[in-house]
Formats: sequence, C-alpha cells, structure tokens
Amino acid sequence: MSFLSYLKNLDREKLKLRLYSTTRQEVERALISPEGSLDSLLALLSPAAEGFIEEMAQRSSALTRKRFGSNLGMYLPLYLSNLCANECDYCGFSMSNRLKRETLNQEQLDAEMAVIKKTGYDSILLVSGEHESKVGIDYFKTVLPRVKQHFSYLAMEVQPLKESEYSDLVDLGLDAVMIYQETYNPDTYAKHHTRGKKKDFAYRVGTPERVAKAGVDKIGIGVLLGLDDWRLDALLLGHHLSYLESRYWRSRYSVSLPRLRPCTGGITPKVELTDKGLVQLICAFRLFNEQLEISLSTRESAQLRDNLLGLGITNISAGSSTQPGGYVKPNTELNQFDISDERTALEVSKAIRARGFNPVWKDWETAWVRSGS
Ligand code: SF4
Repeated sequence: MSFLSYLKNLDREKLKLRLYSTTRQEVERALISPEGSLDSLLALLSPAAEGFIEEMAQRSSALTRKRFGSNLGMYLPLYLSNLCANECDYCGFSMSNRLKRETLNQEQLDAEMAVIKKTGYDSILLVSGEHESKVGIDYFKTVLPRVKQHFSYLAMEVQPLKESEYSDLVDLGLDAVMIYQETYNPDTYAKHHTRGKKKDFAYRVGTPERVAKAGVDKIGIGVLLGLDDWRLDALLLGHHLSYLESRYWRSRYSVSLPRLRPCTGGITPKVELTDKGLVQLICAFRLFNEQLEISLSTRESAQLRDNLLGLGITNISAGSSTQPGGYVKPNTELNQFDISDERTALEVSKAIRARGFNPVWKDWETAWVRSGS
C-alpha cells in the first residue's frame, strides 16, 4: 500500500477528536514508553501534554545526548535559482510575484562555493524553485558533480523528481533529499497551491517513497507549521515517518519543523504555533524516535535557537542566504523568505560551544555507507 492510500484510510476527524480529548492519564502513559508508538505521539502532541513540557524536555534532552552526544550538525543552503512555475501563497518565489529571477551559471556557482568553503562548511543543501525546464534534471546533472568536488555531503531541496532521476543523481553524488509536504490536509493544500505542478498533492506525497527506492542515504520530510492545525499535521508527519522507516529502513530520516515567515506577497499563519508549542513538538518527536535527525533553520530567532539547543535538535543552518548568488552579492529583493537569526556561521558556532555543544561541519561520509552496503 502506498502512503497516499494509507493516508486516505486515516480518519482525520477522528484523529483530531482524539488529539483534543486526550487526558492527563493518557499523557502520563505515553511518557512511560513513548518510542515508536503513534498513539503515544498523539498524546504527546495534544493540548493535555502542555502541562508536561518540563518532563518532556528533560527526557528529550537526555535521549538526544545519548544518541547524538554533544554534536550538532551544521549545514548551509545554497540557492541555485529563484525561478518557479508554481504558485504557493506563502512563498516569495511564487511565479506571480514580481521579482528579479536568477539561476546560477557555472561561474556564479563556483564563486558562491568559494565563499561558503571559507566559512568551514562541508555539508551543503542545494535549493531551487520548481521550474522543470530551466532548473530541471539536466541542470542538476551539470551542477552536482561540480558541487560534489567541494562538499563531502550533498543534499537537495528542489522539485519532486522521478525515481530514475533520483538514481541518476545518486550516481553523481547526491546524499540527501528534503521534500516537504507543507500540509497533509488535501483541502488546505489545494487552497495554498493554486498553479503549477505542485498542485498535485498525490505526486508530492509519494515523492519520499521514490527517493527511498532510488537509494538516497537520507530523506527529510516536514510540514510548514501554520498552514493548518499544527498538532494534526505533526501527527500525520509522524505517520509518514513511521510508514517510511518500516519499509525503507536503509535510509536515514530527518524532519524539519519550519514556521511560516514573512515573505514577498506572503500570508500570515492561519494557526499560530507559539514558542512553547514548538518546544512541545520537538520533544514529542524526539520521544517518538530516538534516531531521528531534527533540523532548525534560521527562520527562528537567535535567542530561541540557542535555547532550543540540546532539547532534541541535531542539525542547524547558520549564516544562511535564501537567494541565488546571495553569498557573493547579497540582495534581499531575491529572498525566498526573511531569516530571523542573522548571525554569521562563526558567531553561531561560538554560541553553540558556549552551551557545551560541538559544531560539526560535515555529515556522514557517504563512502563508508556505500562500501558497507
Ligand atoms: S514553495 Fe517552492 S514551489 Fe512554491 S513558490 Fe516557493 S519555491 Fe516555488
């Protein structure tokens, strides 16, 4: 059964009712043996669990230490293009937004990489808008070998591709794919994605399965918190994670928990997730899955990010630019969204060390994975 069929079989209303009628006793039970249980995840995401945040935070912190030590993975997004043939009303790159469009050529790409390398990063996330003809598989096939010469770990957050295309990119050095569903509510999804291929909910929700079948080392999934009821969307994200892990166990998994941020032509969140809610969410996922990587981007403020270190976060970006060419020549007009933590990578790494953590500038060495497989 595909995840799409699995999702269709879930009763959203029933799950929502359970989330909002969870009792304190059910949360207490979930805290005793939470790992891997979707029922426990539901309880930990419920409003009733808000009274247990302190306990959840302590357990989450201890589990994260046990599995990841004091290490914190550092990655940086490199925007290849802001061309996009979709309309997503929360994103500055939407096709109807009037902004200068740019796609990096080889020389511009080399210049961006040279600046990034000086900061110490060895793990890179290539990002682009979704434009099939101009920033599609042919473009990626020219870019990946060039980038792989300079970075040992290469992740992509671009348009959904076919399984065979992911396989081709794995051969060229692709290590990880981030593909976010934004929301698991098909009606809300349709409301926010009004033009372009991204309108196809089914194709998008099936993408992580195609990525896994292509043998990609790490798969990142996530929702854009604020588009719909965050508790239910997070619970369905947990279902998606559980579905993938049980079938495609050779891949590693990460989740990203971004909240809506201001952007050109953007919208305000329909359902606000408070800082306390974000803490609950991070801890609930850590208690649900000890192995899971959880990343936090520069969308969040410096103070909040520093305070969240050690709770369950394993990967962060720092000194990010969200525009093509932004490391060489910053131009905020081209931004996908406004960042909140504007510190440099060096400043963030100092803050990390000051809290007793160790910033790690590279991810797993893929050669080890392949030679062991
Ligand atoms: S979210 Fe992605 S697909 Fe949608 S407009 Fe932005 S870049 Fe394009």
